[in-house]
Amino acid sequence: MKKIQASFRILKEIYPPFLILIVFYPIIIGFIIDNELSDARYILINLLWLPMFTIPYIFLKKRIIYYLIVSIIFIVGFIETGHWIILKGPITITSLFVISNTNIQEAFEFFDLKATYWLIVLIPYSCLFIISLRNPPNISPSEMKPWIIGLVFLVSASFILENAIHGRLARKGVPQIAKVIFSFIDKRNLYKEAMQDIDPREVNAVSSFQVSSQTFVLILGESCNRHHMSLYGATKKTNPLLETRDDLIVYNDVISPYSNTLNSVLTIFSQSNLEQNIRFKESVDIIDVFHSAGFKTYWISNQSPIGIWDNLVTVLAKKTDYFKFVNTTSNSSFEAILTTSYDSKLFEPFIEVLEENVPRKFIVVHLMGSHSAYSKRYPKSFKVFTGINSKEKTIAEYDNSILYNDYIVNSLLNILKSKNSTDNNKIAAAIYLSDHSENVYDEMDRVGHDFSNKLPKANVDIPFFVWLSPSYIQMNKGLVESIHSNVNKPYVVDDLFHSMIDINGIQSLYLEEERSIFNQEFNELRPRILEDGKDYDKK
Ligand SMILES: [Zn+2]
Repeated sequence: MKKIQASFRILKEIYPPFLILIVFYPIIIGFIIDNELSDARYILINLLWLPMFTIPYIFLKKRIIYYLIVSIIFIVGFIETGHWIILKGPITITSLFVISNTNIQEAFEFFDLKATYWLIVLIPYSCLFIISLRNPPNISPSEMKPWIIGLVFLVSASFILENAIHGRLARKGVPQIAKVIFSFIDKRNLYKEAMQDIDPREVNAVSSFQVSSQTFVLILGESCNRHHMSLYGATKKTNPLLETRDDLIVYNDVISPYSNTLNSVLTIFSQSNLEQNIRFKESVDIIDVFHSAGFKTYWISNQSPIGIWDNLVTVLAKKTDYFKFVNTTSNSSFEAILTTSYDSKLFEPFIEVLEENVPRKFIVVHLMGSHSAYSKRYPKSFKVFTGINSKEKTIAEYDNSILYNDYIVNSLLNILKSKNSTDNNKIAAAIYLSDHSENVYDEMDRVGHDFSNKLPKANVDIPFFVWLSPSYIQMNKGLVESIHSNVNKPYVVDDLFHSMIDINGIQSLYLEEERSIFNQEFNELRPRILEDGKDYDKK
């Protein structure tokens, strides 16, 4: 009996009860807030990692080691608990980007919407910290049980080693916060690497359309969920303008590869795709291709160029021959929360660019679209839908932003059309898509596009349509036919790189025809495995 008691005592030293509570507290809070998004695996992972810190203390008996362990675990737990309360989910790389990129507005919007008396749970947590500091384990040499300590250490070490050997330690074998920090550092390094080299590269690409003028416009939307568009059958009339056009080729089954701006935009613009993630610096992007094919490249944007740190989307923009950011109402993304910058600001620079006398143009128009806070995305005259309770109000505000987006996209197309209507030797084409979608209580009773281990379809179901000038249609009958015939095929826009090369008649070694939705060779059987590792079509 005494032996068992002694064994328990030594286990209590390896796993101090108050410290265990500090470790499990955020996980428990997470389970209460949303058990669907919690991951019980982290309890086990934490139990396996803790001895790596407590065992050195047991042997060295230096109080400072214990204080350090408790403080670090407390700070991490405090951040994780706060994150659960404010963002209703665990810390993920996406949520860190939400906080560190231009999307900071969203983090604050979440706080406005959802911060509650829940923050009170941080008080008992802080008490736990103090109690834990005051009760350091204290074991006498006579109570030491080296074989128990050895066994625990062996189990933990072999778990860590096993994961490390198989190269999945950072992904699967560490506590959540460490996992997030590892991938965050990786993304930061990618950015630094990319900044060293922002001149477009000369790559294999030759323009084949024999015309006096060729213009291609990519209208890149933001957080637009096609199920909220009446163009796609939504009951609220959110697309009174686009719906009445007879010159749009609307695709019905297109999704974004990721649920956040950065990852989505990078794959849309580069060779990288879901199957093959090529580092930004090594991959050829669409600006390299257009540049090499003799196009002048433009980027006009209503998104804030300044994050807490700059981001890779800004790097892409800066790579073009001419870029303009019209969202100048703030000095930082923090300030941008408080300000409004309507997408109509893009009309003037768009007209200027179209009027430039350059034979071949590639123009990216990056909208603010339906980025949260939704109510800041449209002027008063577009406040058509209303709601009674806070949920209905949020949905109504989102739908108003879709209604405004209808006006913006329709106007951009009209402007483009007006500049390209007369001469048969001038052709133009445009694609509109959203970088990702937005879950506005469509699924899981949640708002936003952040997710942890379960990716709702509402985060990736995006609108995608094509506009072609009459002269383009006249000139490319065969291509136009396959563009029309593929409208119901399943597509992920990580392959838009190939489709943009294709629709512009650029001959290039980088064009993989089976990845172009406009091509007869398009492979509609490609499985759509998204960032959560699950097949979209089996969800
Ligand atoms: Zn976005």
